[in-house]
Amino acid sequence: MTEMLWYLDCYTHKWTSVVKDVLEDEVVLDKTFFYPESGGQPSDFGTITFDFQLFNVLSSRKADGKVFHKVDKIGLKVGDVVECEVDWTRRHILMRHHTACHILSRIVLNETGALTTGKQIYIDRARIDFSLKDFDKNKIKGYEEFANKAIQQNYDVKWFVASREDADKIPDLVRLKHKPLLEGMKEVRIVDIVGCDAQACGGTHVKNTREIGKLRITKAENKGKENRRIEFVLE
Ligand SMILES: [Zn+2]
Repeated sequence: MTEMLWYLDCYTHKWTSVVKDVLEDEVVLDKTFFYPESGGQPSDFGTITFDFQLFNVLSSRKADGKVFHKVDKIGLKVGDVVECEVDWTRRHILMRHHTACHILSRIVLNETGALTTGKQIYIDRARIDFSLKDFDKNKIKGYEEFANKAIQQNYDVKWFVASREDADKIPDLVRLKHKPLLEGMKEVRIVDIVGCDAQACGGTHVKNTREIGKLRITKAENKGKENRRIEFVLE
C-alpha cells in the first residue's frame, strides 16, 4: 500500500520517501504527494532524487492501493531513501482549475439542475460536460459572472473524510450523472468550499477561492443529444 498524502494535505510538495517496489520504469514509494491521474485531473510531474541522481516523474497511476510513478530512467532500487518533489507551479495551476470546476458545476446545477457527466483539467483551461438538453446561450455570461462573484467571496476550502452516513446527508454531494461514485464506500472524501458547495472528490484543491483568479468561459457547445460542454480559462 502507498500512503496517499495529497488526500489530506494538498500543499506539501517536498518529502523524503522509501522505494517499496520497482517495475521496469515504474516506482512505488511508501508514501507520496504525487497525484495519480484520476477524475479528470492529470498526474503531477516532478522529481525523485537518489544519491545525486535525478529521476523525472512523467506520470502516476493508482492501482491496488498503490501509486506507480513512471520515471524517465531506470536505476532506483527497493529500499532506496529518496527525496521527492512535485512540480508545484504546475500542480497549483491544476488545483486552481479543479476548485473552479466545482464552483462552476454548482452554479450550473443551481441554475439548470444539470448534473456533470465529465470533466477534464489542463494547465491552461478546463472543461465540464453537463447533462442538459439545451443551453440558454444568453445565460452563459451569467454563469461566468456568478462564478466570479463566488470566487471573490474568498471562501475557505476544506477537504476531509466523512463517514458514509454523514456524507449521505449532504445534498448533491455526487455531481456525476453516470457514475455510482459512492457504491460500496464506507468513507467519503469531501471537498467543501465552505458556504458555496460540497462535493465528493478525490482531487487536490486550493485552500481559499482567492487563489483561483478570474474565470472566463471561452466555449459553450453541444456534444451530443444531452451533453453540453463548457470550457473556461483562468486569468
Ligand atoms: Zn473534484
